[in-house]
Amino acid sequence: MSIIIDGNAIAEAIKQELFAEIAKCRSTPRFAIYQIGEEESSRTYAVSLEKSAQKLNIQCDYYQEDEDTEADILAASFTALAEDSEVHGLLLLRPLQNQTLEHILSMCIPPHKDIDCANPLSMGLLAVGKPILLPPTPAACIEILKRSGIKTAGKLTAVVGRSNVVGKPLALMLARKGEGDATVVICHSKTADLTEVLIRADIVIAAAGSPRLIKAKMIKPGAVVIDAGINWTEKGMTGDVDFAEVQQKASMITPVPGGLGPVTKMMLFKNLLQAYHLQEKK
Ligand code: NDP
Repeated sequence: MSIIIDGNAIAEAIKQELFAEIAKCRSTPRFAIYQIGEEESSRTYAVSLEKSAQKLNIQCDYYQEDEDTEADILAASFTALAEDSEVHGLLLLRPLQNQTLEHILSMCIPPHKDIDCANPLSMGLLAVGKPILLPPTPAACIEILKRSGIKTAGKLTAVVGRSNVVGKPLALMLARKGEGDATVVICHSKTADLTEVLIRADIVIAAAGSPRLIKAKMIKPGAVVIDAGINWTEKGMTGDVDFAEVQQKASMITPVPGGLGPVTKMMLFKNLLQAYHLQEKK
C-alpha cells in the first residue's frame, strides 16, 4: 500500500508561510481576475480564488466583460490593468472560446505580472532556463515532490500529457539543470505503448484529462505517482489514475480530490507574492 500524499496539508503549510510573508509586506499584494463571457466554471473558480485571497489578506479585483465586446476594446482595458502599478498580478480566465483573442490578451500580460504564465513569453523564459514566474499546476507537482522528500535528479520521470498549461512546462521544469535534473519522457495520445514507457518510470505524473487512464499494470512497483487530472464523471470528480488499483503498487500517490488542486491554488498566490516583491523593488 502506498503513502497517500495529503495535498490539503501541503497547501495549508504553504498558506501559513504565505500568510507570514504577506504580514511583512509594506502594502497589500493585489491581483486582478479578468473573465470574458459567463462560463459558469470560470466564475466558480474566480469566486474560490476571491475567498482564498481574502483569507490571506490579498486584494483581489474581479472584472467581467461581455464576450461580444470588440477585441481592441478588450485589449485596451486589459492593457490598462497590465500597466497599473497598483496591480501586481493579472489572471486571465482561460480557455476562451475565441482562441485568437486569448492569444492577444495573454500577450498583453507582462511576464513579471503573469501569475498564471499565460503569456507565451513566460513559457519561452522557462524553456531557456530563465523563468520569472512558474506555471502554477506544474509548480504544484514539483512542490509536492519536494515536500514529500522525493528527489527527482537522475530519476526516469514520465509525464503523461503535453499541453501548454501542464505537461510541456512540467517536463521543462523537471529537466531543468540544477533544479529538477530528471530524465523526462513526455507521453501523449500518439504514444504507441503507454504501458511500455510508464512501467520503467520511477515517477509518473498524469495530466491527460482521461479518467482512470493509468492502471496498476502500467506502474513499476514502488514508483511515485502524481495525478494532475480533474475529470467529472457520473461518480463525481476523478483523476487520470485508477487510484484504488495504483495505490496497491506505488510507494506514494496523490488522491483526487485532495491532491494537486489545493496546492495549485497556493502556487498561484506564491507567484503573486513573488510578483509583488519584483515590483516593489522597482
Ligand atoms: P489537455 O486536454 O490540454 O491536454 C491533455 C494531454 O494529454 C494532451 O497532450 C493529450 O495528448 C494527452 N492525452 C490525452 N489522452 C491521452 C491518452 N489516452 N494517452 C496519453 N496521452 C493522452 O489538458 P490539460 O493539460 O489542460 O489538463 C490535463 C488534466 O489536468 C485535465 O484533467 C485538467 O482538468 C487537469 N488540470 C488540473 C489542474 C490542477 O490544478 N490540478 C490545472 C489544470 C489542468 P495530445 O497532445 O496528443 O492530444
